[in-house]
Amino acid sequence: MKGLVWFKRDLRVHDQPALTAALAECDEVIPLFVFDEPLLRSGQFGSACVNFMLRCLDDLGRSLAALGIPLQWRRGEPVEEVLRMARESGVEAVYWNRDYELAARTRDDAVRHALMQHGIAVHTFKDHVIFEAGEIASAAGQPMQRYGAYRKRWWEQWRTSAPRVLTVPRPVSQHATGIETSRELPGAADLGYEQLTPTIPGGEREARTRLKWFLKGPLGGYATGRNLPALDETSMLSPYFRFGALSTRSAAQAALMTFARQDQAWRAGAQTWVDELIWRDFFQHILASFPHVATGPFRPTAVPPHRTDRRLYEAWSRGRTGFPLVDAGMRQLNETGWMHNRVRMVVASFLVKDLRLDWRLGERYFMERLLDADQAANNGNWQWCASTGTDAMPSYRIFNPALQAKKFDPTGDYIRRYVPELASVPTKYIHAPETLGIDEQSRYACRLGQDYPLPIVDHKEARVRYLREKPVR
Ligand SMILES: Cc1cc2nc3c(=O)[nH]c(=O)nc-3n(C[C@H](O)[C@H](O)[C@H](O)COP(=O)(O)OP(=O)(O)OC[C@H]3O[C@@H](n4cnc5c(N)ncnc54)[C@H](O)[C@@H]3O)c2cc1C
Repeated sequence: MKGLVWFKRDLRVHDQPALTAALAECDEVIPLFVFDEPLLRSGQFGSACVNFMLRCLDDLGRSLAALGIPLQWRRGEPVEEVLRMARESGVEAVYWNRDYELAARTRDDAVRHALMQHGIAVHTFKDHVIFEAGEIASAAGQPMQRYGAYRKRWWEQWRTSAPRVLTVPRPVSQHATGIETSRELPGAADLGYEQLTPTIPGGEREARTRLKWFLKGPLGGYATGRNLPALDETSMLSPYFRFGALSTRSAAQAALMTFARQDQAWRAGAQTWVDELIWRDFFQHILASFPHVATGPFRPTAVPPHRTDRRLYEAWSRGRTGFPLVDAGMRQLNETGWMHNRVRMVVASFLVKDLRLDWRLGERYFMERLLDADQAANNGNWQWCASTGTDAMPSYRIFNPALQAKKFDPTGDYIRRYVPELASVPTKYIHAPETLGIDEQSRYACRLGQDYPLPIVDHKEARVRYLREKPVR
């Protein structure tokens, strides 16, 4: 039998369910990637993300060539391109891994329908999550809405049916349908994006190397180190998970395998890290089970007060708010396409609760800039920070950016890395530079209102106002 594997956000060969099944069931296999024109034109993703994806594809192409099945690619409307490739090559079955984003589900249903109309079988697989929506439900069989209860069920499920991790398939001797080579991939510019060198290098090889490094060292201190943005203490694997250059199943299993040979603190680190992967599954499950979250709050009555103010939004997005931790975070995002999780929470709370801007503006900005831009994780976290989500932060809880900075960046190293205007400012002022006197401003080369902005809002006043206007839960 001749089969086609449609790669989407699963750009790897290890632990790849669709690829493994196709190679087991078919004599000839064609791997295909389609540059989805409508998606590329939608403006949903930015250049950083697209460049990262291209690196992952390049690496995948090399791995598939080594397996004897060169990657084919097309550009256009996926329904037409997958069907055309399948029909031209005389394929009898198409294999792919499931995606839970709303537009992807609609697209995949359309592809399935078109293929089946032409008598071509479709086989789909769980891949992007460890447990799919439906595998973890309440006692009454309903989708779960609270992370705590979901997490408990997740661990029970893992203990009773830990998913199997697949090995890399063996090279195949045949070449599919006489297609012996891959065409060179397009560059970002060909796709209408800026050509960049991603600050995190893409590809399955890089992902596996990064995972090994993380499991050998930072994992042990993760339970405490993960909150400190100045340190390299988190895995930075999220972009690889986003594009499937690494499977979360295999990463969770590898982390838990370190349990046996380590002490209590190490185990706490490994367990906390897997809990983060559970947050990832949880938000995928929320998006799949409650699709209305894609466009509005999970709880329709929970609309935070908001106004339109272009000036405040510009200051936030450019990292010119006068709040050093917020500014460092936004500049890290703008320069590198990544931001530390603790800082993501602080900048999101600041946008919603201090600036009183619509959380969806922030959600969109993150999608356009992040290397790991993922609809489910991004939406779920923004709703968490805006107190509109399932298991959200209570609306009376408002991060104080200066206190957060003191606690999680006590020496100011993270702030100084991304806000060079504050490079010479001593630690005692770094979290509140507006308290610098005139003489100190010139001594430390930081004139307020010129080199570095004065705070664009008064946090105390903003807090009181937000609390007065916030919706009642
Ligand atoms: C406002 C906001 C927006 C976010 N947008 C995204 C996004 O678009 N894509 C994205 O992958 N993550 C998003 N996150 C979650 C989190 O910030 C990143 O997953 C994390 O910073 C990635 O770094 P890491 O790989 O070093 O994580 P680690 O700390 O090493 O954690 C391991 C993995 O667990 C998952 N994870 C960790 N924290 C979370 C979380 N809070 N929610 C869901 N999954 C999590 C990620 O896949 C991560 O790679 C967002 C968080 C906030 C507060």
